[in-house]
Amino acid sequence: MTRKLYIETVGCQMNVLDSELVVGSLRRQGYELTHEPTEADVILFNTCSVRQHAEDKIYSALGSLRSHKKRYPSKIIGVLGCMAQKDQELIRRRAPHVDVVCGTGQLARLPELIAEVERTGKPQLALSLDRKAAARPEVERSFESYDPMRDPSMRPSRYQAYVRIMIGCDKFCTYCIVPKVRGPEQSRHPEHIATEVRQLAAEGCKEVTLLGQTVNSYKYDLGDGRRSWLSDLLARIHDTAGIERIKFITNFPRDMSDDLLDAIRELPKVCPYLHVPAQSGCNEVLKHMKRLYTVEYYREMLARCRERVPGVAISSDFIVGFCGETEESFQRSCDLVASAGFKNSFIFKYSPRPGTKGDELYVDDVPEEVKKRRNNDLLAIQNEVSLADHLARVGQTVEVLVEGPSKTALKSGWTSGPIQLTGRTRTDHIVVFEGNERLVGQTVQVVVEEATAFTLFGSVVTNEQLGVDRKVVAEQLDAKALAGRERMSLPLL
Ligand code: SAM
Ligand code: SF4
Repeated sequence: MTRKLYIETVGCQMNVLDSELVVGSLRRQGYELTHEPTEADVILFNTCSVRQHAEDKIYSALGSLRSHKKRYPSKIIGVLGCMAQKDQELIRRRAPHVDVVCGTGQLARLPELIAEVERTGKPQLALSLDRKAAARPEVERSFESYDPMRDPSMRPSRYQAYVRIMIGCDKFCTYCIVPKVRGPEQSRHPEHIATEVRQLAAEGCKEVTLLGQTVNSYKYDLGDGRRSWLSDLLARIHDTAGIERIKFITNFPRDMSDDLLDAIRELPKVCPYLHVPAQSGCNEVLKHMKRLYTVEYYREMLARCRERVPGVAISSDFIVGFCGETEESFQRSCDLVASAGFKNSFIFKYSPRPGTKGDELYVDDVPEEVKKRRNNDLLAIQNEVSLADHLARVGQTVEVLVEGPSKTALKSGWTSGPIQLTGRTRTDHIVVFEGNERLVGQTVQVVVEEATAFTLFGSVVTNEQLGVDRKVVAEQLDAKALAGRERMSLPLL
């Protein structure tokens, strides 16, 4: 009988990709996906440790499965990813009914671990080494880049795919748990990446997004004294037949080199979109965060991006309420957001992470209600800036890769005929318009007619091809239902 698998994913795109690959490999073992945890023989949680809230969610989900596991002891419950690597045995102390704890660097072993639980009935732990537990090469080997054969049916969209180009991080920002749970920075061989991109293209994929915690730090020693940088990698995969767009996230401000910016400008398939988190607009806070740049450096970097890549759209991340952030320092973040022209920013309340330098060295001294207020205030400023950026695009014709029916269309119970579709521009702007469902996966020209802070609304330019009347759809759209969509483009929390 077919065994059923349920998987829940929290966190960033790296986790979304890991889940896609885990599901693909378990399907090859005969598992079938279910969306109902109680129907599943194997229940997996692919977890995130970046903020406390993400961990609480998982412990609460595990708690609610306790009685289910008591009733059906043969069901297997697994915790994968960042929280598994961070909390290790603590997971089983808090949730003894968990059978598998598997860290980010051990995902290749998952089928074997599940089989072992089935065979022995004993819990299985697979973890990588702590960063200080051994010499770097040994720690690196314990964090294996998990890039097995792709299964096209497992991708959320046939036409878009994430491609991991590196794992880990060596920056050690003081607030961040990622270097601990994802291990040392290691770049993949450019030829392995190019092969994966060719395979994706052969399966019909048109847009690849290259992933790395600091993707622009990508460097691979080719062994003959030469190094491959991100700019070289982009050039190498650029001519892959079938690939129309190449994006990459997330960039580290200090590693934004001119040769990378020139590659973005010169290679037409590389999209003029950069996600470059600033985190704060205050030098004192940046220093405590160990971000390795000042706000002046960051502003110069923005100017350089815009000068070398005309029309580039830039987005950012900010943390509010980091240890020692005064009203004055917060005001500096407001000033940066008000003047930097970000397309959008993801704003997070500081969440102390045990195991980080920030947690060790500084006091989490900004009260929760102040963090909340600063978060709302900064978001309000960003929304105004985003609206201005969007309004400036009204009247322009933009190229959109159609992703599928909009949320509103999905909710409406639509069955046939023109439908509200959504897609993204090359600058990563979300566009909603009316069209035929067969446009999904195609690139179309859309004239922008309306805008909110989150979404552009428009009409497809080539009517004949669509068989739909060109009309202004904006007033028919439920902008509120779409408002949260932009936040889905990066951290999913
Ligand atoms: N590597 C990326 C970078 O350097 O920008 C981002 C990685 S992190 C998963 C995504 C975002 O989470 C960060 O940019 C930061 O804004 C936020 N973040 C990380 N640690 C955090 C913490 N302890 N509390 C709140 N937000 C945090
Ligand atoms: Fe975390 Fe900083 Fe590395 Fe980004 S660069 S993953 S924020 S340590």
